[in-house]
Amino acid sequence: MALFLPEFDLQRFNTLAIPARANFYVAVTNHAEVLEALAFAAEHKLPLLPLGGGSNIVLADHYPGLVMHIKLHGIEQVAEDDSSVWVRAAAGENWHEFVQHCLAMGCYGLENLSLIPGTVGAAPIQNIGAYGVELKDRVAELSAIDIRSGLAVTFTADSCGFAYRDSVFKHSARDQYIITSVTFKLDRVAKVMLEYPSLLQQLQLSDSALNTAITPDQVAAAVIAVRQEKLPDPAITPNAGSFFKNPIISAEQFDLLRQRFADVVAYPQPDGSVKLAAGWLIDRAGWRGYCEGDVAVHAEQALVVTNPGRGAGTNVLALADKITQSVREQYGVVLQLEPRVYPSAR
Ligand code: FAD
Ligand code: NAP
Repeated sequence: MALFLPEFDLQRFNTLAIPARANFYVAVTNHAEVLEALAFAAEHKLPLLPLGGGSNIVLADHYPGLVMHIKLHGIEQVAEDDSSVWVRAAAGENWHEFVQHCLAMGCYGLENLSLIPGTVGAAPIQNIGAYGVELKDRVAELSAIDIRSGLAVTFTADSCGFAYRDSVFKHSARDQYIITSVTFKLDRVAKVMLEYPSLLQQLQLSDSALNTAITPDQVAAAVIAVRQEKLPDPAITPNAGSFFKNPIISAEQFDLLRQRFADVVAYPQPDGSVKLAAGWLIDRAGWRGYCEGDVAVHAEQALVVTNPGRGAGTNVLALADKITQSVREQYGVVLQLEPRVYPSAR
């Protein structure tokens, strides 16, 4: 039976270590407890926050509702053919441990996504991505519970509307489903992805064409090493990873920007638009290493806002607002937050 805890402190359940409380908290470990929690929220007219690892949220204030901590566990191989393996993982599985588990089973394709914090169930929400691989490349389908009806539903990969750090779960299906498991289609024979210069450098390769001898385990080890060097460990320096999305702008807007900043870091997209490295914009605007009270901009990567003082979410958001304004003034580019803000609808 689910246990509903009132006035629950969420500080250790969000990686920014923001001290905020929820009106109610419940940890759910099976389907019946999810339904029980949905009924509790409906009966008490409480808003609902499904919580995984708390690594992509900002608690702007106390949460006036029910936090449903997703603790569903289990990993199973559900099918295979000569070249592929289908693996289903429950939503509460730790993402990084799941990736390592797949590697150990000889199932490949997720290695570039090593060491991303959080849970399997949250990964589809923003279609997590790193080093040239996105979740969407590997999702076969996912299972969810409709929050209003309590019915179980299946989303095919196509119906998830995956896009760059985006999915239907941020738009038309926002706040409507509890994701309960995700099924991945993985490869038996590895095809490693080594497009990112930092990975090539870590593996001491000069060209991605030389990648044939590199194993997925080596890729995972390289990803882990690069990330540990560059990104703050939330357990030591609270943070939510990249605080802003990389903006995608039109080719025309990019040409104008490049006339003013010849060294702007940018990547052309297949549709003709251009992805700007938000970290470069923020760094070049002078924010890298900036500290103000409890909060700071990470010295190794300006895209990461940290909360070393473990202070209120409003401080974190106030610094993010200053950065956004300065980037808009200097480059005419509007940054958008990557983490979701609760309880407000930013
Ligand atoms: P939470 O923060 O708990 O939740 C995020 C959102 O998903 C919330 O809106 C929540 O309500 C919803 N949600 C969670 N679980 C469910 C569920 N089962 N059903 C329905 N809704 C749910 N992201 C990347 O894409 N690439 C990276 O390389 C990356 N690196 C990071 C590095 C660091 C150091 C940190 C701190 C974060 C990084 N992130 C990265 C962001 C974050 O780890 C991912 O977005 C991750 O998927 C969030 O998982 P979570 O379980 O912590 O989600
Ligand atoms: P990086 O390798 O220094 O690259 C800087 C930026 O340039 C990244 O944002 C990346 O875009 C882009 N980039 C680099 N090489 C590219 C290529 N060959 N093709 C297209 N785009 C390229 O970045 P980093 O900060 O060290 O992060 C490494 C990876 O981990 C990135 O993929 C990043 O997204 C991911 N990461 C994400 C978070 C998060 O919270 N979302 C946090 C930490 C790291 P992309 O971001 O689109 O890949």
